[in-house]
Amino acid sequence: MKIFKDKQTLQEEILKNKGISFIPTMGGLHKGHISLIKRSKKLKLKILVSIFINPKQFNKKSDFKSYPRNTKKDIKLLKKLKINYLYIPTYKDIYGFKPKKKVFLDKFSKKLCGKFRKGHFAGVLNVVNRFVEIINPKYIFLGKKDYQQIYLIRRHIEKRKISSKIIECKTIREKNGIACSSRNLNLNKSQTKIASNIFYYLYDLKKRIKKNYSLFKQNKIKNDLITLGAKKVDYIENYDVKSFKKIRGPNKKFNLFFAYYIKDTRLIDNI
Ligand code: AMP
Repeated sequence: MKIFKDKQTLQEEILKNKGISFIPTMGGLHKGHISLIKRSKKLKLKILVSIFINPKQFNKKSDFKSYPRNTKKDIKLLKKLKINYLYIPTYKDIYGFKPKKKVFLDKFSKKLCGKFRKGHFAGVLNVVNRFVEIINPKYIFLGKKDYQQIYLIRRHIEKRKISSKIIECKTIREKNGIACSSRNLNLNKSQTKIASNIFYYLYDLKKRIKKNYSLFKQNKIKNDLITLGAKKVDYIENYDVKSFKKIRGPNKKFNLFFAYYIKDTRLIDNI
């Protein structure tokens, strides 16, 4: 595994390849990231993982500061997985140039997480646009845990006629049901139990809503989550995962999208 800290040396190396499989991450690697890497191996191209905690997508400084960082451990894991390239850029390497393409921010960026984390998706698209310009990947592997993010990156890629193809990867969960997330590292044992109880409650509720749509009562669900131990619920919404249209009646293809806090840790998921 070769490690790069600047785009010039990275580009000298990767432009020799026919195509790159790219897995962007913010580090704090877990089973979700590993599954993206394993999925990318099937395509037999050189694999490039990036670790960059993008300050522009955090709407609160405290959240950026408390985001889990463990680069040494991450490097060890990536070596074991035998990826080809690891790119750990500095802020200047990413933001010290003007990209050729302008970010396209679909209006869906104002919904769900975008409604509660102002500027979050503009920050995500800004960094993705830059990474794509530097790496020109043939494939980008993204997790469905962040479904809204996938949708918005796809819209940008389509609109700006970028040739990279997105590969959507399924959400990997812990044995207790919670979606693997770097942020889980900030939860203690009893908080983890709360997250697990909330997952099972919503998992079961979704099955019941499928049979009886009138059970989708946002205020009641929010209150139930608070009773289960959430400090605050940002949203609980119901979207068709293909079209990202809101569901207003019985429909088989919807996912429940939710974001809530346990103490200061914000968790998101969709089931
Ligand atoms: P992050 O490091 O949180 O920015 O995530 C990097 C990539 O890993 C994104 O495409 C995420 O959607 C994906 N990812 C994060 N958690 C999971 C998970 N539990 N299952 C599958 N993919 C995930």
